[in-house]
Amino acid sequence: MLSRSRSTIAKTARVFATISLAAAVAVAGSATAFAQGVPVVRDAEIEALVRDYARPIFRAAGLANDGIDIVLVNDSSFNAFVTGRRLFINTGALMTAETPNEIIGVIAHEAGHIAGGHQQKLREQLERAKTMAIIATLLGAGAMVAGATTNSRGLAGAGMGVAAGGGEMAQRSILAYQRTEEITADRSAITYLNATGQSGMGMLKTFHRFQTALSLSGAQVDPYRISHPMPQDRIANLEVLVKQSPNVDTLDPPTLQQRHDMMRVKIAVYMEGQAAAARLMQKMRGSMAALYGDAQSTYLYGNLASALAKTNALIKAQPKNAYFQELRGDILMKANKPGDAADAYSKAVSLDPARSGLLPVSLGQALMAVGTPDSLKKAVVQINNGLGRDKENSTGYRYLAQAYGELGDIPGAELATAEGHFYSGDYKDAKIFAMRAQQQMKRGEPRWIRAQDIINYKSSGKSQ
Ligand SMILES: [Zn+2]
Repeated sequence: MLSRSRSTIAKTARVFATISLAAAVAVAGSATAFAQGVPVVRDAEIEALVRDYARPIFRAAGLANDGIDIVLVNDSSFNAFVTGRRLFINTGALMTAETPNEIIGVIAHEAGHIAGGHQQKLREQLERAKTMAIIATLLGAGAMVAGATTNSRGLAGAGMGVAAGGGEMAQRSILAYQRTEEITADRSAITYLNATGQSGMGMLKTFHRFQTALSLSGAQVDPYRISHPMPQDRIANLEVLVKQSPNVDTLDPPTLQQRHDMMRVKIAVYMEGQAAAARLMQKMRGSMAALYGDAQSTYLYGNLASALAKTNALIKAQPKNAYFQELRGDILMKANKPGDAADAYSKAVSLDPARSGLLPVSLGQALMAVGTPDSLKKAVVQINNGLGRDKENSTGYRYLAQAYGELGDIPGAELATAEGHFYSGDYKDAKIFAMRAQQQMKRGEPRWIRAQDIINYKSSGKSQ
């Protein structure tokens, strides 16, 4: 299941499973402020795929141990950006890219910014600079401002960002430093791609697309273009480097391409609606991705029995695919067959090579829906298992609290509620529930200690 969340990054502090297991709940102040309001998407399959794209690149960039999270943003525009230790990628970027290599190239470029320690704050400001002035300056398209001023959404942002404070001089200096940083990041990206035996053509293709698609008058300006100016000479230099590489003609492995296609179809079905999904599936006619999209579309918009038959056929073709089993579980849940759904999710959990924390929580939900005392106990085990892999899944704690409640374990339910508030960034309520939990616990027992940790937690820069 692909689930959207309106909750903010700030609230769900490190919602995402991480590349490394860097602990800590703390969110850097600036990143928090910036990320406020970012709609996050959670999906075991897509998260695993994007991590598979990023892992070799981060290793080549010397960032493998830096605990960089990957966060999927529910936004149909093209964007990828870094704040603090987080790499954000819009679903729109994943949808647009026709090959893994296009996304891998963008990740390589962003990794270049991280490894280069490029001016974090200013980059963040640029990301949010939505004023027409800044857009016009960065794109060197002053003439278009007149046409674009009818875009009231763009103008609504006036006063925000760097343009407001700095004026022309500031803009010029931004452009100057950006120019250097972009070239550095491009060069680093090529180094990482070469080190991992991958082509730079995908990155070049993406940048070319931004360079040529000057559609400022439209409703949407891709944020990536604003923060990554692409003057002709930069692209030309990059093109030389890409074509010099021995890997220039290397294609993505077919299995990776198939996973990419499946991801695109999934995003189309869940986020863009039936019509957009049908258009994309038409282009991929006959492929596994098209069949997958058809099964998902039937699950969401059509007949459940038919969706199940289509999903069973997928499973027959790829018996080891965890996400086909997950879809089967989703369908059976919707069909009100939680016992069968639990079987499917259970298979998904055991097949999942990425060990996502999301799948055990889905299994736990199905077991809760079964509702016997025995299945409730199993549900608790599974949800705890999922949360153990992915601590900051604040929804998981809600189910955990409910399961404990139904089992009559009230302090357990209160501690789970406290955790949920804690990982949502709501420290005040977290402490209230932690204290309530402690009243019914033996002093010094592990759960009591965890409650005490929450009570003692000092959030940075927040009044308690
Ligand atoms: Zn850049």
